[in-house]
Parts: sequence; structure tokens; C-alpha cells
Amino acid sequence: MLLGVHMIMAIGGADMPVVISMLNSYSGWAAAATGFMLSNDLLIVTGALVGSSGAILSYIMCRAMNRHFLSVIAGGFGSGGGAPAAAGGAQPEGEITPISATETAELLRSSQSVVIVPGYGMAVAQAQHAVYEITQVLREQGVEVRFAIHPVAGRMPGHMNVLLAEAKVPYDIVLEMDEINDDFPDTDVAMVIGANDIVNPSAEDDPSSPIAGMPVLEVWKAKTSIVMKRSMASGYAGVDNPLFYKDNNRMLFGDAKKMLDEVLTALRA
Ligand code: NDP
Repeated sequence: MLLGVHMIMAIGGADMPVVISMLNSYSGWAAAATGFMLSNDLLIVTGALVGSSGAILSYIMCRAMNRHFLSVIAGGFGSGGGAPAAAGGAQPEGEITPISATETAELLRSSQSVVIVPGYGMAVAQAQHAVYEITQVLREQGVEVRFAIHPVAGRMPGHMNVLLAEAKVPYDIVLEMDEINDDFPDTDVAMVIGANDIVNPSAEDDPSSPIAGMPVLEVWKAKTSIVMKRSMASGYAGVDNPLFYKDNNRMLFGDAKKMLDEVLTALRA
């Protein structure tokens, strides 16, 4: 018990999904070991299945976050749990350009292709149903709408897929990062809903950034990107995001659900 409590205390709060899958993996290996002791083939096989699937999932999550497995399971002790990574890298330059919900609706209406990038903020605001209603209205007006899902968007694997499925978004318009990343240059509007780290260009451009090397969705390559969030606050990684200062980016400040409802009303007007 002491060993278990000590190991988990050391892990940052937002790394918990990795820990959960890691503990799943440990339980599998423990079951397999018990199987060997009791000469029980079923326990050995099921234990090995649980153990290896948990280990593979932990590895995939760490790789998508560009973090080393050991730094996840050893990091964060004494930092208050889940403290953001220390800020690093160059400070972004430029000015931010705010946009209103009505202007957003006009921009969406006049587009041919729209890519929606959901993130942790969409989950916080529970905005998935409003997102789908906007998707329906736009599709009825002949706009191509697709969703781009980053492997670590939100706070657990598949977080966004679950929310979109709950809102009944059709699976064929929900695409993984690798499937859609090359399409941003041909996209009129990339609408980022409560996401931050997963669309941070410094992961590609700034080798000194704490998230350097993490694969990101290249929304800044779209003709216009709109970021929906409440403030200029950083995301989980605690780093500033140069996307907000780009010329072709607009900021729609406010709670994602409230803003999307306003966009929807303007679209229906
Ligand atoms: P981020 O945490 O980077 O950003 C989320 C943004 O949402 C914040 O900047 C916040 O800005 C905004 N937000 C919060 N609440 C609301 C709201 N009600 N309305 C509108 N906006 C809101 O999330 P991402 O999804 O971009 O990235 C996920 C991060 O989590 C990555 O760094 C990843 O490594 C990490 N992670 C992911 C795991 C996974 O398995 N998916 C596991 C562990 C960590 P503001 O406060 O200004 O509104």
C-alpha cells in the first residue's frame, strides 16, 4: 500500500489518464504472475492481454504528448500535482484580433469547407451538442464540415470521440490528425473550440518550447482560424500559443457553449 500511494502521489494531476492505463497494465501482469503460481492458463492469458494492452495504451498516450514514459511516472512530486510545465521558448509577437459571434457565423456561412478542432474546453463547457447543431445547419447550407481529432485532445484518450458520438455526430466526418492535417491549406475556416496545446505552432517552429516535437493540428494553414476560449490563459502544458497572434487568426472570447449558441442563433437568423 505504501509503495502504491507513494508512486501515485508523485504523478501530476493531468497525467492521471496515463497512470490509470499504467495501473491497468500492472493489474494484468499481477494476474499473469498469479496464473503462473497457480498453474492456471486462463489467468496467464487474460493477465498478459490486460497487461500488454495497458502498456501499449500508456506508450501511445506518452508518445502523442511527446513525453517520456519515465518523466510521466516520476514527475510532479511536490509541485502541487498537475502543475503546468514551466514556460519556455520565445514569447510570441503580434496582436490578437477578436471576432464576434455574428461575424463568426457570417464567415462560416460564406465558407466552402470548415474543419472543427475540439479540445478540453469543449468538454468543460459541454458544448458538443451546440457544435453538432451548427454542423447540421452548415451542412444544410452546402458547407463541408469535418472534425479533426488530436490523439491527446482533452484529458483522456478518445475524450473528443466520446463527446462527439454522444452528440450523434456522424463518424464519417470525424477524422484523426494524420488523416486531415494535410487538408488545412484547402480549408476556409478552422474553428478551434476550447483547444490550445494541440494547435500550438511552437511545437513545430520553436525547438526550445516545452512542447517541441509534439505533433499538432496545423490550423494556422487554413485561410482563417478562429479560436474559441475564455481568455489568453495557457493550456495544460502552460505555454503561450503563437497561433493567437497570427494575422489570419481570430479570437472568439467566451464560454464555448455560450458562444456557440450565439453563433447558432446568428446562423439561423
Ligand atoms: P488544453 O488544456 O491545451 O487547452 C484547453 C483550453 O480550453 C484552455 O486554454 C482554456 O482556455 C479553454 N477552456 C477551458 N474551459 C473552457 C470553456 N468553458 N469554454 C471555452 N474554452 C475553455 O487542451 P487541449 O485539448 O488543446 O490539449 C490537451 C492537453 O492535455 C495536451 O497538452 C495533452 O498533452 C494533455 N493531456 C492529454 C491527455 C489525453 O489523454 N487526452 C492526458 C493527459 C494530458 P481559457 O481558460 O482561456 O478558456
